[in-house]
Amino acid sequence: MLEYTPYVVPFLVSLGLTSALALVAVGRPSPAARTFVWLMLGLSIWTLCYALELCSPTLAGKHAWLVAKYVGAAPTPLLWLVFCLYATGREAWLTRRVQWTLAGWAALTFAVVCTDSVHHLMWTELRVVPGEPELQAGHGPFFWLYAAAIYASILTSVVLFTRFYWTAQPLFRRQGLLLTLGGFAPLAGRMSEDLFGLDLLPRVDEVIFFFLVSAVLFALALFRYSALRLVPIAHHLVVHNIRAGIVVLDLSGRVVDLNPFARELFGLTGNAGVGAPSHTVLPYLAPPDAPQTTDEEVTLLSRGQPAYFTVQRSPIRGASGRLSGQAVVLFDVTARREAEQQLRQLAQSDALTGVHNRRHFVTLAGQALAQAGRSGQPFAVVMMDIDRFKGINDTYGHPAGDEVLRAVAQTCQARLRRTDLFARYGGEEFVALLPATSAPEAQQVAEALREAVEALRLEDAGRPIPVTLSLGLVAGQTAQTTQDQTPQDLDLHAWIAQADAALYAAKTGGRNRVTLAVSQGRGVGMAVG
Ligand code: GH3
Ligand code: MG
Ligand code: MG
Repeated sequence: MLEYTPYVVPFLVSLGLTSALALVAVGRPSPAARTFVWLMLGLSIWTLCYALELCSPTLAGKHAWLVAKYVGAAPTPLLWLVFCLYATGREAWLTRRVQWTLAGWAALTFAVVCTDSVHHLMWTELRVVPGEPELQAGHGPFFWLYAAAIYASILTSVVLFTRFYWTAQPLFRRQGLLLTLGGFAPLAGRMSEDLFGLDLLPRVDEVIFFFLVSAVLFALALFRYSALRLVPIAHHLVVHNIRAGIVVLDLSGRVVDLNPFARELFGLTGNAGVGAPSHTVLPYLAPPDAPQTTDEEVTLLSRGQPAYFTVQRSPIRGASGRLSGQAVVLFDVTARREAEQQLRQLAQSDALTGVHNRRHFVTLAGQALAQAGRSGQPFAVVMMDIDRFKGINDTYGHPAGDEVLRAVAQTCQARLRRTDLFARYGGEEFVALLPATSAPEAQQVAEALREAVEALRLEDAGRPIPVTLSLGLVAGQTAQTTQDQTPQDLDLHAWIAQADAALYAAKTGGRNRVTLAVSQGRGVGMAVG
């Protein structure tokens, strides 16, 4: 049985607000938001039961709602503390032990309340006074413990938010300020009475009344400043979790701090590396005296594999603008580098045979000729063409022709030195540039290639595929130059043209043979071998 009393009105308004806020926060994704939902539910139960207590005319009725009220009143102050830890980026404090302690305290409070008629630890004498909507009670020792816990939890939250305030972005500052005031308002009501004997609202509970103020401030934080939607993430967590190495150096170039990624990168554990001069940790960095922001690329060995990093160095300045050190940030660009290498590889090699393609050969051979020009060493250019390859395609099919091309390319590549350049020049033509090679040596090499191809035992479905190679070679020496300004490309094409002419001679001379073009400078003196 309930009776209406006007005292209940503000509490019903407050109940409406806190329930609505719980519903709003359900849609927000963070752990802080989840805690906030429980917090608002706790406040709602607390307020609802209090309202029902006010409306119950009998002692038994009031007592029943008083006890029920603690379903909300026991856990809510602790939920507020948990919420503040999340909201200020201190969730690391919420260890298992802390969680169990908080839950245990809430459970103990509720147990004491339920069994109060046996021990009177919470309330000493409960009575209904006419004209007073609240149940009147004297307070037992546990009540003061309970009150102390509320004080502790709310004052802790104020300290948390105050510390948070100084490092947060302006938006989060405003959120934080509203949340702090919202959390503090009910306690302020209580404190005015406890500390100054000022009973602001004589006939009702100030704490519960001020939930109304809390709800309004929380609503402002949520709707005006996106609280629980935009959750601040503490700077130290960013540094801790970022997939980049961060090393902080002081002005003398000593390592002051490394984030976990950097420690892992350099194989350091615990505090190792802290206090060491930067070059012991970052030996490849230029001396750290240049205070301006710089970008470098470095290669590190990470678990035996090369890893590529861009290194960015930024000065760190204190609030006064004075230089206090620098941050060295290492970004892993290995994946990008490998992709670039793959692309380069694709652009430089022949898709069918895997050897260099013509364009890349021209680049490398130009450089090799320039080098030969500087050193005055002899070199040779060899053009090769598979004999009667069209016939192979016609007889065995195009795929078999491809196999032959691969086999010839591999055979020649394997026969040449690492310093020789070898490429597919086109269709079934290959080219080689042999640096530091005299004419007789080059002739031997070409002969060896011819023999190796002739010796190939390729077959198609049991049918042998005879393959032979004709080769034309030119051996030469460029005039010694001291600078790079000779048009080496033109030179290269002249040499290739001579080798090609020799190859033509090999073809007309009967194929499967080597022909040497004797060259003086750019002149061609051909001798058919
Ligand atoms: P020669 O002894 O005079 O060099 O005669 P040849 O038949 O080898 O010369 P030709 O230049 O007339 O024929 C070359 C053939 O090579 C024609 C072309 O279809 C074939 N060919 C070019 N590229 C490829 C390729 O990638 N795969 C295959 N299977 N055949 C190719
Ligand atoms: Mg051919
Ligand atoms: Mg040809």
